[in-house]
Amino acid sequence: MITLETPLKNLPRIGPKYVKNLKKLGIATVGDLLFHFPFRYDDYSKILPVSSSSRGDTVTVEGEIIESRTTRTWKRKMFLTEILLKDDSGTIRALWFNQPYLAENLTEGKKIRISGKITGDASGLYFSNPAWELASRAPTNTGRLVPVYPETEGVTSRWLRWQIQFLLKFNFRISDPVPEKILKKLNLPGTDKAINYIHFPDTLDHALVAQKRFAFEEMFLVQLKSLQIRSSWQKEQAVKIKFNEKLIKNFVKKLPFKLTDAQRKSAFEILKDLEKSRPMNRLLNGDVGSGKTVVAAVASLQAINKGYQVAIMAPTEVLARQHFDSFIKLFSSYKINIGLLTNSYKMITCHPELVSGSNNKMLKHLPASLCEALQAGVQHDTRTNLLKKIQSSQINLVIGTHALIQEDIRFKNLALIIVDEQHRFGVTQRAYLQQKSSEINDGLPEKIPHFLTMTATPIPRTLALAFFGNLDISILDEMPAERKKIITGIVNPVERNKTYEFIRAEIKKGRQCFIILPLVEESEILTEVKAAVQEYERLSREIFSDLKLGLIHGRLKADEKEKVMREFAGKKIDILVATPVVEVGIDIPNATAMIIEDADRFGLSQLHQFRGRIGRGKYQSYCFLFTSSNSSNVRARLKALVESEDGFKIAEKDLELRGPGEFFGTRQSGLPDIAMENLANVRLIQIAREEAQELLKSDPPLKNYPYLKKALQKFEQEIHLE
Ligand code: ADP
Ligand code: MG
Repeated sequence: MITLETPLKNLPRIGPKYVKNLKKLGIATVGDLLFHFPFRYDDYSKILPVSSSSRGDTVTVEGEIIESRTTRTWKRKMFLTEILLKDDSGTIRALWFNQPYLAENLTEGKKIRISGKITGDASGLYFSNPAWELASRAPTNTGRLVPVYPETEGVTSRWLRWQIQFLLKFNFRISDPVPEKILKKLNLPGTDKAINYIHFPDTLDHALVAQKRFAFEEMFLVQLKSLQIRSSWQKEQAVKIKFNEKLIKNFVKKLPFKLTDAQRKSAFEILKDLEKSRPMNRLLNGDVGSGKTVVAAVASLQAINKGYQVAIMAPTEVLARQHFDSFIKLFSSYKINIGLLTNSYKMITCHPELVSGSNNKMLKHLPASLCEALQAGVQHDTRTNLLKKIQSSQINLVIGTHALIQEDIRFKNLALIIVDEQHRFGVTQRAYLQQKSSEINDGLPEKIPHFLTMTATPIPRTLALAFFGNLDISILDEMPAERKKIITGIVNPVERNKTYEFIRAEIKKGRQCFIILPLVEESEILTEVKAAVQEYERLSREIFSDLKLGLIHGRLKADEKEKVMREFAGKKIDILVATPVVEVGIDIPNATAMIIEDADRFGLSQLHQFRGRIGRGKYQSYCFLFTSSNSSNVRARLKALVESEDGFKIAEKDLELRGPGEFFGTRQSGLPDIAMENLANVRLIQIAREEAQELLKSDPPLKNYPYLKKALQKFEQEIHLE
């Protein structure tokens, strides 16, 4: 018997090659296949007689093949299959390129249906590469709203349609995780109906209501999960860390700058949280450059001063390394031992007692680069040593990547975890990190660490509630005072050389520059690297042959990236060419110009983040948005960036122009596509939240909702760090 759990390899109609390819899409069982949803539909529902179809129409026609031939064009070595289709009203031609196997299928006398857009030339109207199927078959690929699926090598939408249509005939009973009364109230179909609607809708309305249903389900699970985490979080205990006013005042006084009011306020909110026995759960939301690090430092200092340990996590090794450097500087006049523990880096600040405790022999044979490190007050160490020093609390502050939370590290008394998410802030990912943080070996019996996350992406208020409704939020909505406005301009391709000259002049003045390359699909990282290398070589050879250029892209290892960043920071590189996947997070006050290629391909918030890398020093900075698009939409969008430097305003605009799906980007959000698309419906999220709240109030353990409970467990398994 076939069930939803049946592995596809047990189905005779699916060969081993398909089983293997489907795996790439994460599809292994019948259920997986049924839940592989289309991302759009081709509307072939208009069925017309041949004679009434006209050029430009997307239609379906049905008839008999009265002529058929397949030829090979010698010049281009291409197969061309051409048929003449006849119905009661007349005839029309159809052509297919490079599908030689069609010759045996599309033979004279067969009755078929074809769907597609009608084109035409001097010789008359024809279909080019239309979809087709035998007229005797139920409309699947033609003659209806046809689903188009995410595909992979060897797995086409056409194939998926046949398989899914076949499986749908079994009418599996799919247990519905959403309680019936909620579906009724919201007028949404149950899973059984919705699964049919989403694959083979009779009308677009059916497709939409099915999408809405599944989107609601996802949002509902997300909200339930985060409410559950919240309530278990609130039952936990944390250490109370008393606010030491003198300590903090002294620290602030010694800073080379004056804190902004927003920084003061946020730091105060965090210090207040630390005083409570209930663990802090706070999000610090501040634009790039708004100074989150120093706020994190205030909280860390307070905890360390009371004898506790603190862990700080960054999304990448390069950023972890940067935090390490920043905290060494910030805490230089305190006796605080800082450790950096990532895949590539195992380092500690070298206070005398630490140096003597580690491998002294090694020090004699240090290569030059390490000596440099030593002079800077840091020393390399082994992982084992670091772990020991963390366990004995010889290390007060541990800095690492998000992986830190997953490793089996034992602390002596970890009281505060700070997660610097930078651009990522997926709800599910956050929930996961938070859950993990409560499971960490903090060394404090019956207690869990206070939890602070920081994000650099300003989140528009409309979405913040839906996504982070169960968090306390501090906002840094004010930039450090002495920051100069960055002059931003939209540049046409014809002005490219002028811009290059401008940059050359800046470099002559001793400044530096970034060139950000266009966005390439994430799956195409190799293409991206190739394009980046080419552009780098072009610029080095043809444009800036007298200057020093550096290149940084996604395929470099952390230490390679860092080497380039260090050279840039040390002014050994004049122009840094970078791909957008690379976070160029290092603070380079001397960089005053940035070119962003194909700026129209980025979201406003992302452009704003790039731009935030310049304008950090005392010099006037310039940002050039290159675009070859003349569309007034594109220009209007980019203009928002020219006119504003307020990340929150830009984010609102971005949200308004692109919708939340694009705004968040699927990957960042951690939400499935279908939920993302329906995010436009902020109201739906609110409803999901209200319903989740109500349900948990009436039945906290979800005793009466076994399917829902099961779905939540499955959902939990799917949440993990990438
Ligand atoms: P982000 O919020 O992007 O993490 P950082 O914490 O890295 O920002 O701060 C960016 C830069 O601004 C750093 O060089 C930092 O020393 C500096 N900075 C932070 N706060 C202030 C302030 N109040 N006045 C001037 N400069 C500041
Ligand atoms: Mg930061």
